[in-house]
Amino acid sequence: MGWALQRESGLTPGAGGVAGSISGVIVVQKYGGSSVADTDRIKHVAERIAAAKREGHDVVVVVSAMGKTTDQLLRQAQEISDIPPGRELDMLLTSGERISMALLAMAMHELGYTARSLTGSQAGIITDASHGKARIIDITPGRIQEGLAGGHVVIVAGFQGVSRDSKDITTLGRGGSDTTAVALAAALGAQICEIYTDVDGVYTADPRIAPNARRLTRLSHEEMLEMAASGAKVLQVRSVEYARNRGVTIHVRSSFSYSEGTVVDEGTDMEQAMISGVAHDTGEGKLVIRRVPDKPGVAARVFTALADEHVNIDMIVQNVSEDGTTDISCTLPLADGPRATQLLESMLPEIGAEEIVFDTDVAKVSLIGAGMKTHPGVAAAMFTALSDAGVNIEMISTSTIRVSVVIREADVVPAVRAVHEQFGLNQEMPT
Ligand code: ADP
Ligand code: ASP
Ligand code: MG
Repeated sequence: MGWALQRESGLTPGAGGVAGSISGVIVVQKYGGSSVADTDRIKHVAERIAAAKREGHDVVVVVSAMGKTTDQLLRQAQEISDIPPGRELDMLLTSGERISMALLAMAMHELGYTARSLTGSQAGIITDASHGKARIIDITPGRIQEGLAGGHVVIVAGFQGVSRDSKDITTLGRGGSDTTAVALAAALGAQICEIYTDVDGVYTADPRIAPNARRLTRLSHEEMLEMAASGAKVLQVRSVEYARNRGVTIHVRSSFSYSEGTVVDEGTDMEQAMISGVAHDTGEGKLVIRRVPDKPGVAARVFTALADEHVNIDMIVQNVSEDGTTDISCTLPLADGPRATQLLESMLPEIGAEEIVFDTDVAKVSLIGAGMKTHPGVAAAMFTALSDAGVNIEMISTSTIRVSVVIREADVVPAVRAVHEQFGLNQEMPT
């Protein structure tokens, strides 16, 4: 039986030079870091925007920082301070996107188009005050609309906003330019939100890990949400959440080619694929609370304390107890590990556990597919593939459309490939 059914129906054409586009409507195009990595790439992006303008579109562009700029800025901050003040770190990081927006506006002028670059704050992106992971709470796009009415290309710095309460500049978390783009598409009633990146769509697995991975032509918000939440960083999780809540259609495509990408939409009238893909995440660690007394209230206390510190817990597993004690394990972002460990160590006398161990050498591999709801045996087939590949499973969790396992980080490549192959997701090779 074929686990994966390819779906071809219902493709929505995009704007960037693709046949079938409608004139006079707003399109939002987001260009990621690799798409604006140097000034030549910026000139190339300007050409693509000019093509959309020539088709009669009103174009709003969202840009990321050039190449690895955000990483470099973070490194510089860390050279100065282990825990830089959130306000200042956000001020620093948002400067990356300001560079690319201004350079891109200049490139548009060179091509004979007028462009207006706007910071997130100028573009009316209003957030809460939570530095480094701010949420968009409102959009007042007056200046964007004025720019469009004046015939300009409007270029917005991605990944940033301004806090309504503190009036400080905030950032939306790594990969947040995707969310800026989707939020603007929703606020402006855009026809489509195009996410331009360095791959030509969403694949059945990260093509860097599984070279045989196949591009998906269409995917539902629900499936993409599970893929993104499971580590497929081609779209930021929040951008997909936002798109689902506001009914925004996303077209993920490459800025390096003109080929069709992947359409992510509501997924109605879609032939349901059994399995859409395999995702992996090496950004989490496993925290183990050893030998906790097996009595009511302990888990509540531990996880309340972690929640109060805004530590995002992913999987939780409690072992069968032995001699009245048990181990509780959970996974959480690597960056939160030291803080969570310190907090729980300070609670050791209170909860009566023996020790806290934080293991950073783990990875999560997930299988995602809306069709698995109605098909038994998916988890069993996944575990068999892992066992045949000699990969040991340390933790398991499931949702209705996902099965995830925690394994050793060193096993991630063979694990992804084995599961990918087991479910027939490999590209058909020419015979
Ligand atoms: P950008 O800088 O354009 O935002 P990202 O690096 O954030 O780009 O996202 C694109 C990358 O996501 C790809 O280069 C690819 O390695 C990775 N990726 C992970 N999973 C997938 C997947 N299932 N399909 C496509 N790309 C994926
Ligand atoms: N420049 C930011 C980052 O690297 C935001 C983004 O690219 O979406 O995370
Ligand atoms: Mg990204």
